[in-house]
Amino acid sequence: MSDFRKYISSIGIISAIIIVITAIMAVAVMKKPAVIIISVIAVMIILIALLSASTVITYLTVADRKVPEFLMKINLGLVKAVFPLITVMADISGIDKAGIRRIFIKLNNRYIKSLKFSFDGEDILVLMPHCIQLHSCRFKVTSTIENCARCGLCNISELAQLGDEEGVKIFVATGGTLARKIIVDTRPKAVIAVACERDLTSGVREVRKIPVYGVFNERPNGPCFDTRVNIDDVRNAVRFFKGNL
Ligand code: SF4
Repeated sequence: MSDFRKYISSIGIISAIIIVITAIMAVAVMKKPAVIIISVIAVMIILIALLSASTVITYLTVADRKVPEFLMKINLGLVKAVFPLITVMADISGIDKAGIRRIFIKLNNRYIKSLKFSFDGEDILVLMPHCIQLHSCRFKVTSTIENCARCGLCNISELAQLGDEEGVKIFVATGGTLARKIIVDTRPKAVIAVACERDLTSGVREVRKIPVYGVFNERPNGPCFDTRVNIDDVRNAVRFFKGNL
């Protein structure tokens, strides 16, 4: 099943539940008219209309079709608001949540890419997950990436080089709490976050006021173990925020 199909299946379940509730209420209101029930029905109908419109915009956005920036922004806000419900529905119906999260990150990234930035390197923070470091490495790169001996056995050496070339701040975080602390301490104007679908989604949903561009890590050895990242994706995101792409 494609990621969008997974997403639309979850939305479909939510819409079906709303429609059933609306129909039950409509029957009740026909027997005994009540203003409060009529108001709830009106809200339900608006909700269904919003979900339908959002699904169309989501499809166009993830299919790389032309979508006005303001529509992407409104849609991203709407999807952010209902995202917990979407994932709960996916959970209940056995739909793979990773695919739905990939759709969310694509919506987020496409919206960010529709904007223009020209930040200095020092205003950009690149956040990496600890699992990107080779598990047997003895150097403590979580305190500073400069501790990397640059042996090239994992992506940390290339990231350290990218940091030198582009002048961006690069940190390796051991979890969401440390990642939040790094953002608070370094006060960046933009964040490029590398992580799995779950961590990226929660990070993007939590951070407000600054753009967070998500890059998925690669997991050739399974989750959370000696993961990799495509350095070109990170470099392109850095250059985009610097206004050079
Ligand atoms: S590149 Fe750096 S972090 Fe990775 S294994 Fe080598 S010394 Fe350790």
